[in-house]
Amino acid sequence: MILSFTVNGQSIDKIISVKEVTRIEKVLSADDMQGRRTFTPGIDKASAFIESEFRKTGLQTFMGAANFRQGFFMTESKATASKISIDGKIINNTQLVSFSYQPEVSLTEKSDIAVVKINKSDNIGQKFNEYYNSPKSLFVLVDPSFNSVLPNIQHISRVNANPGNNTIVFVFGTLEATTFSIDLTNTISKKALNNVVGVLPGKSKRNEFVIFSGHYDHLGVGSPEEGTPHTAVDSIYNGANDDAAGSTAVIMLANYFKKQNNNERTIIFTTFVAEELGGYGAKYFSKQLSPEKVIAMFNLEMIGTESKWGKNSAYITGYEKSDVGEILQKNLTGSAFTFYPDPYPEQQLFYRSDNATLAKLGVPAHTISTSKMDNEANYHSAHDEIETLDINNMTEIIKAIALSSATIISGKDTPSRIDAEQLKK
Ligand SMILES: [Zn+2]
Repeated sequence: MILSFTVNGQSIDKIISVKEVTRIEKVLSADDMQGRRTFTPGIDKASAFIESEFRKTGLQTFMGAANFRQGFFMTESKATASKISIDGKIINNTQLVSFSYQPEVSLTEKSDIAVVKINKSDNIGQKFNEYYNSPKSLFVLVDPSFNSVLPNIQHISRVNANPGNNTIVFVFGTLEATTFSIDLTNTISKKALNNVVGVLPGKSKRNEFVIFSGHYDHLGVGSPEEGTPHTAVDSIYNGANDDAAGSTAVIMLANYFKKQNNNERTIIFTTFVAEELGGYGAKYFSKQLSPEKVIAMFNLEMIGTESKWGKNSAYITGYEKSDVGEILQKNLTGSAFTFYPDPYPEQQLFYRSDNATLAKLGVPAHTISTSKMDNEANYHSAHDEIETLDINNMTEIIKAIALSSATIISGKDTPSRIDAEQLKK
């Protein structure tokens, strides 16, 4: 970058420095965070660290909250007993998976439950998602050719922010069921989790919000054999890029804008929990705001590696859906940095990330990333460690975000709204 601004006598290079980025990134991606899986001690540790950084920076809490934790609950269901029989024959428990948030379930072919099938010729992923998300009770019979995916489905955590009262049962290995009975016992509990949210109130436009976000959860600890031989990798999914990098950027930007001390609009800095479980943190956060007050949201997701265009570049999902990208790029005129439209539209990143909830409400909410989604070697692997990141480049990206968003922070630019009607439902 050839841009360099002086802020209260301190240049941006001093505030957003490789040293600071390294310090924060190192803590968040350290082995003692145990992969920051939601509902584990590791994520609490990560939360405590982010809170301490927000406190040190001098942010305020969100809407007068007692602290930086934005807590909420999810419901967990643990299957304690399952007994399913089809046409008089008892099904082995290794052949079935049930999803229900009712403590006791007792259903037969006479009950309000539909029998559906996943046939050999079906796309298992697509069909599974369709049935798994059904609001009605379903008894899903799956062709034996898909037996190999059963462990993956048994692995899905049974936690939900708003569980329905329906039951979905998958039985693998049979496609016929004239009569059946389903008896399930589940232990239901409430589990606490939290986003971390800090606020820098605007000087004059207090009720106009600009949001910087990332997610601080990741996948936890896997099995050792998932490490491949090229490094002495352990089984911890450190998530250095996904998304300790985005969380680091949020902390750095908070520090930068606090030191600037001239934001006319209110800036909200947040790191979300439970992104990897289905974006639950972002969904909860988004409901605590009136969307019309949110001027823009920058969600930062995996910015630790070089983009497909090399250094000093990143892409913006949903680039064409508002003029945020143009505003950012305009503010970088004369620099070596470029923001590109998302080059992986087929991957639907705009809809898959934590910006989606607010975008669907019309907010110019975009994700900024450098991740090569067709070829990111360490994506969702135990190799996603700090050594694989380009911290110098990541520091330049954070600076580019700080400088390019300046006119939105100051109130000079107001990005166009996203037309929610044009978005996929
Ligand atoms: Zn991520």
